[in-house]
Amino acid sequence: MNTGGGADGELSCQYLEGRLDLSYETIDVCCGFNESPIRIAFQDFNITTLQQLRHATLARIHAGTEATCLSCPQLKKKHWTSSGLVESINIHHFTKCNLRCVYCFTVIDDQQWIRERWETKYSAYDVIKAVIDAGQLSPRARVIWAGGEPTLVEEFDRVTELVTEFGAYVDVFTNCVRFSPALAKAIERSPSRVYILCSVDAGTSATYEGMKGADVLQRVWRNISLYNKDRSAVTGKYIFVNAENCADHEIDAFVAACLEARVCRVVMDVDGYQVRANRWLTPEEYLPPLVRLGEALRAAGITTFFGEGVRCHRPDSQQLITPSLEGLRECLAGEWRPAHQ
Ligand code: SF4
Ligand code: SF4
Repeated sequence: MNTGGGADGELSCQYLEGRLDLSYETIDVCCGFNESPIRIAFQDFNITTLQQLRHATLARIHAGTEATCLSCPQLKKKHWTSSGLVESINIHHFTKCNLRCVYCFTVIDDQQWIRERWETKYSAYDVIKAVIDAGQLSPRARVIWAGGEPTLVEEFDRVTELVTEFGAYVDVFTNCVRFSPALAKAIERSPSRVYILCSVDAGTSATYEGMKGADVLQRVWRNISLYNKDRSAVTGKYIFVNAENCADHEIDAFVAACLEARVCRVVMDVDGYQVRANRWLTPEEYLPPLVRLGEALRAAGITTFFGEGVRCHRPDSQQLITPSLEGLRECLAGEWRPAHQ
């Protein structure tokens, strides 16, 4: 999109360079923390309008008159190499969900208004189709289904089919309570282009129900197994939230279930929200189970990653980094300092 410009490049941001956010009422180009400088009503959306608004916003930035962008940390001066095509589309279907996880922002009482905003007020399918028909969706594009449970969204099946038939990537953050034949078909069609993340967070049904409000753990594992029929398609996740899910027997049961369901990758994390609990887990509480889980998964041949809630300082540094499993062991031995939340 941006042509580069001077020796240091030009001011722009990743959103202006090729991202679309399908918000509740409008189609936006922004990070969501600011008042978007580009906000298009569904009935006015077309590629020409989108490109004109992007060019006009960049012109105001370069003229020093786009106040929102000029104070935004996303704005960077560099040589942007984007293709000019739409590289990513986030579908904000908000909070339609069949669980009530203790760490989910949607369960906070004063956020209940979000629950009424189940799906975008317009057709996400029509927007994505218009981008594809105009030849403006990058073949490397990612279409991302985040917050809420995407498989419950009415348009989920046809959007997933449209995107995977086109050949772009689709990211689905699902709780796997419901089995989606459309998602299974997408895995079959484009195994390397479908990323599925499922946060299970428990080893036993009682702990799962206590954290998520429904006794469906066995159903979740059955659905993960179905998605993993021919290959490992689902990345598992375990977020340490409270004393119950830090227990050894929960961790051991989770690892055994991963093996049975052919899960090959697991993200390990520590809750950074604690919206219902009235305190954080301390490093003394979450480090031992984190190390135990990492070691058990490694022993089982499962690849591990750390989520954003796992951060440490090296002994001689203030800088927070994501540690390796060895780094975490050193945290446990008191050689590194874990981030205090
Ligand atoms: S406000 Fe920030 S994120 Fe939004 S378009 Fe401007 S620079 Fe990009
Ligand atoms: S499954 Fe996801 S959207 Fe639903 S309550 Fe849990 S964290 Fe929130």
